Amino acid sequence: MRLVVKHGGTSISTAKNIQAIAKHISSLSKKHELVVVCSAVNETTDDLLEISESIKKENKSKAEQLASKIINRHKQLAKKTIEKSTVRKKLLAALDQDFTELIALIDGMVLLGEVTPRSMDYLISFGERLSIKLVSFALNDQSKKAVPLSGKEVGIVTDSNFGESKPLIDTTRLRVIKTVDGLLAKKTIPVVGGFAGGDQHGHMTTFGRGGSDYSATIIGSCIKADEIWLMSDVDGLMTADPKIVKNAKVLKEVSYVEAIEMALFGAKQIHPRTFEPLLSKKIPMRIRSSFNVNNEGTLVTVSSSSSVKNTVKCVSNVKNNGLIDIQGGSMVGTPGTAAEIFTTLAKFGINVMMISQNPSESSITIVVKKTDLDKAVSALEMELLGKIIKKLEVTTDVSIIALIGSGMRGTVGVASKVFGAIEKNKVNVSMITQGSSELNLAFVVKNSDTALAVRALHNTFALDKIN
Ligand code: ASP
Ligand code: MG
Repeated sequence: MRLVVKHGGTSISTAKNIQAIAKHISSLSKKHELVVVCSAVNETTDDLLEISESIKKENKSKAEQLASKIINRHKQLAKKTIEKSTVRKKLLAALDQDFTELIALIDGMVLLGEVTPRSMDYLISFGERLSIKLVSFALNDQSKKAVPLSGKEVGIVTDSNFGESKPLIDTTRLRVIKTVDGLLAKKTIPVVGGFAGGDQHGHMTTFGRGGSDYSATIIGSCIKADEIWLMSDVDGLMTADPKIVKNAKVLKEVSYVEAIEMALFGAKQIHPRTFEPLLSKKIPMRIRSSFNVNNEGTLVTVSSSSSVKNTVKCVSNVKNNGLIDIQGGSMVGTPGTAAEIFTTLAKFGINVMMISQNPSESSITIVVKKTDLDKAVSALEMELLGKIIKKLEVTTDVSIIALIGSGMRGTVGVASKVFGAIEKNKVNVSMITQGSSELNLAFVVKNSDTALAVRALHNTFALDKIN
């Protein structure tokens, strides 16, 4: 099989972990053609982002301190991971080149006193540039031929929308095939840095947080991989958060659309565009553990055979949100009200997680993250209160509970089962949404009712017996 195997940041956060995944990759490569994709070592991207914040605040010493932290982390990992001294020396020399470039970049940004989207992408792409060297040399240490390649070097060409770039897929395909086929023909494993590519002018670009998943599926679709494995510290997609439901199960099989919904909520956060490259090629994806390698994890395919059998496949929750009920007499029958509300929120950079409007049109209710709540309320007050809005009612500390499963579509009685179970537990529901795709039924409860509601629903739909 031709496989793209992607490891997340926690999978390479210690020397022992890097050695373990190198061993696994090495044994897989005996049977399969492999392309490895890596995230940055845990916390490194966060540190790089903090460097950019420090530069903005003209705090040079903080930026330098963070750079040393990153440099030391990788030096220590290199020293502890690699056993053969010749390999270790080569790795340290290769890392040193990146360290020098990183420091020069930070100096330059400090000197200019500005962080542009372009310099920011250049800066935050360093995490993956460093991690691929650790993994690639760890493979060399086990006598495997491997080369580290940044997303740009493997051939991912993107537009120049820094921070949220998209691949120019035709050019990318030609380049990636050429690089990968060339290396595989020489029995060399490409170890590719996720998250980043290069635009047509050769500038570093990134795909947004968590973008290494997306890199894996872009590469997989280019080289016509048979499967793509997203490996991390979780066993797969689960029926509920195991911290809340003791007998939560790993789902054996889900469809792309279900996985997209689950990724937004679950423990395994997946970059939202990850599935795009797979849809037309119909490449199966596995979400599995980097360490518990005998566990098959969750298989994600275009349509899963078991999706019809189970109406509901998982009960997810997102705690710590705020609910805003936007009321106003002149909203009724006034075209453009919703547009004004959402344009205002967009102008202030607020992401809206849930929306509902009753047919009387007298109010629109939205849910935003708790961290956005104050900003959202003051934006609406400043721009619209006294105009189209009469009153705002805010509820803090609410939790979104979502049931996901494509089998809910057209199945009669799901809602009554859901709210019956909720009622039995005397939990109050303050908002409900369901898209007409019927893939996701979500409602809002108090934070403190989350566990009760999730457990009740997991029980009602017998999700512990799902597989
Ligand atoms: N290193 C990047 C991040 O932390 C990309 C990724 O991990 O997928 O967002
Ligand atoms: Mg990550």
